[in-house]
Amino acid sequence: MESTKCPICKSQNTSEWYSADIDISKLTFTYEFSPESQKTFRVVRCHNCTHAFCFPLPKNIYKNYEDVVDQKYLHHSKSRKLSAQAVLSIIRPYAQNGMLLDVGCATGDFLAVARDLGYHAEGLELSRWSSKITRKKGIKVYQDRLKSLARQFPAKYDIITLWGVIEHFENPADEMRYINRLLKPSGLLVLWTGDVNGVMSRLLGRRWWYWQGQHVQYFTHKSLNYLAKLSGLEYIATKIYPIAAIYEQIDNSLSRYKFKQYIMWMIRLMFTIKSVWFVRLPGEMLWLARKKAERPQYPINNECK
Ligand SMILES: [Zn+2]
Repeated sequence: MESTKCPICKSQNTSEWYSADIDISKLTFTYEFSPESQKTFRVVRCHNCTHAFCFPLPKNIYKNYEDVVDQKYLHHSKSRKLSAQAVLSIIRPYAQNGMLLDVGCATGDFLAVARDLGYHAEGLELSRWSSKITRKKGIKVYQDRLKSLARQFPAKYDIITLWGVIEHFENPADEMRYINRLLKPSGLLVLWTGDVNGVMSRLLGRRWWYWQGQHVQYFTHKSLNYLAKLSGLEYIATKIYPIAAIYEQIDNSLSRYKFKQYIMWMIRLMFTIKSVWFVRLPGEMLWLARKKAERPQYPINNECK
């Protein structure tokens, strides 16, 4: 078996976990779940830091995001805003105010809630369509890459957030160094991603949603903490991301699973009792770290291509 280097710890002690069954030319980058979005790339796991990753990476990942137009995404704005409120109540004790950057801000629902709570909220987004919608909300959006932003604005931000974004990065180690560069000393990084070692991953196997569709990096608690150390960040805590579930959103999210037809009666019943349920699934990591107070260990111009 060909030896493949782990993008986090660079170990070559890796092996194939899942073979590929996806046809990249048929993959859609929207919330309309096509049959391809239920399939996986070839997944390799690292036996040193426990990270799992797609190899080989599909071509033009970032270019695909620039062209994203996703009308269906707009339908779930209410649920994202409710989640944002719950998440910000967790973040607030660590950073009560200041400059906040949401990386991969999509249509700006999180940023709008953060701004209403008094944060100076800005976004970074590749999709032209999403950026435009966020700007219409009166929010500053950079339609750019982290690398470019880090060059322009070193130590600008008190808080950087990534919601379901890190699993899409081609090279998470480089991107985390750019994030380090953008943060002020002691600035806060908060991200949400799935835990490969979590219960849902073990229970669903290949059907776990993080294995499917556009995701190319799959973290464990250990590999995230390893990445933090490499990037000059200090781990603070891991909590569970509170997903605000409304009926329409659950109905759509479950569309990728055949078992949906057997459980929808129960879901409908649940939503006759309450219109919003906060779901805290084990393995949905809400992970917090801080930039070390001293100078970053990896000056951007020397370390990052
Ligand atoms: Zn590794």
